[in-house]
Amino acid sequence: MSDASSSYYFLDEARAGKAGLPSFVHEGTATGDVRAARADFPALHQRVNGHPLAWFDNGATTQKPRVVLEAMTRFYERDNSNVHRGAHTLAARATDAYEDARATVARLLGASSPQEIVFVRGTTEGVNLLANTLGRSRVGAGDEIVLTTLEHHANIVPWQLLAQSVGARLRPVPVDDSGQVQLDAYAALLTERTKIVALSHVSNALGTVLPVDSMIAMAKARGISVVVDGAQAVAHLPVDVTALGADFYVFSGHKIFGPTGIGAVYGRRDLLAELPPWQGGGSMIRDVTFEHTTFSGPPARFEAGTPSIGDAVGLGAALRYVLALGLPAIAAREDRLARLLTDVLSDIPRVRLIGTAAHKVAVASFVVEGMRTDDIGRVLDEHGIAVRSGHHCAQPALRRFGVESSVRASLAFYNTEDEIHRLGAVLRRMMRTDDVKHWGATVKKGDLSSSA
Ligand code: PLP
Repeated sequence: MSDASSSYYFLDEARAGKAGLPSFVHEGTATGDVRAARADFPALHQRVNGHPLAWFDNGATTQKPRVVLEAMTRFYERDNSNVHRGAHTLAARATDAYEDARATVARLLGASSPQEIVFVRGTTEGVNLLANTLGRSRVGAGDEIVLTTLEHHANIVPWQLLAQSVGARLRPVPVDDSGQVQLDAYAALLTERTKIVALSHVSNALGTVLPVDSMIAMAKARGISVVVDGAQAVAHLPVDVTALGADFYVFSGHKIFGPTGIGAVYGRRDLLAELPPWQGGGSMIRDVTFEHTTFSGPPARFEAGTPSIGDAVGLGAALRYVLALGLPAIAAREDRLARLLTDVLSDIPRVRLIGTAAHKVAVASFVVEGMRTDDIGRVLDEHGIAVRSGHHCAQPALRRFGVESSVRASLAFYNTEDEIHRLGAVLRRMMRTDDVKHWGATVKKGDLSSSA
């Protein structure tokens, strides 16, 4: 394995005059002016249905800055090879690029070593990996796994499959009317039967930021392992797994401006070392006979087969970009956008916001009295505004608020005030119609063309 701290890729980009940095850094504009970075995202600068695209579906996936697309193209044009195999130049370059990406993930998360980072396909695969390794070694009949009402299905179903197969059960922590977890109820659920706590850092359906630091501390005080689903956190908040004391932290690259097909599991070094392998195959073994196999140490033990090398390279470029922009600056910008979004939506009749916790990221989940959520999504799309309508893979969270589906506008730093006002204008125009049922059945493309 090559030196994981190698900066081969970074230096190479610097030579090319790019260095994977946001465009405003080159242009010499003020650091922290994250608005200028919008120019770096080609997909944002297009018209959809005759209107400028307003991408409010960042919770589902984010758009990619040009440096990510370029890093991946460059990798495939020059360096493409399998990793950790073969004694030739391209294998060494590909391995360096792959390990450099691992080191960048470690830097983003504040891990103490790149060896604490396992590459996976995304959050879903990461949670499945942990359910099948940590879960299978810790959870038995009669045991309990505590999670929250806010979890994405990816942080419910793998634990449920495990629980069903070993005779354990899931205990969800309730949330209050604002969509925040109830810490006293959480404390009461932690008992000697609790073997794992699995919680999201940020709720994808409501945008609630959970008090993960307190929740981790409370679990750790009882010796319980904690898995944090950071899918909706990493692109919006500075994360430091060491300061949080998280045992495991999982995220998807595509939700932080990287490609699909790549994500990571952080695991504290000593804990990863204790876990058994999950998937078997090449690259995760030391020695194989027909009688017996000995396994590599982490992270290789958990990366059977050829990994998504090109996607890891893209993720590394995305994370360098985010780190250069600065997560505190991103969070400050999004906080301003979140306040405007809440103000605009709160002012529209018949709109009910779901999830009003004091600590939220820039996500607004809402329903409109008398209108179907998919119709709202469709009408907004006709105006170039991309939101998500549905259950957001978080059915228990929405059902807590008495709905099966909501409209979700989930923002990133590159969204603008103007886009939020456009969203408000189209919704207001929809409200002005005398017959709200009209929207449920007969609205047609072009009906609202004079709005926004
Ligand atoms: N967890 C949360 C909180 C999410 O929002 C998502 C995706 O929306 C996931 C897990 C699953 O992520 P992926 O589909 O990238 O595996």
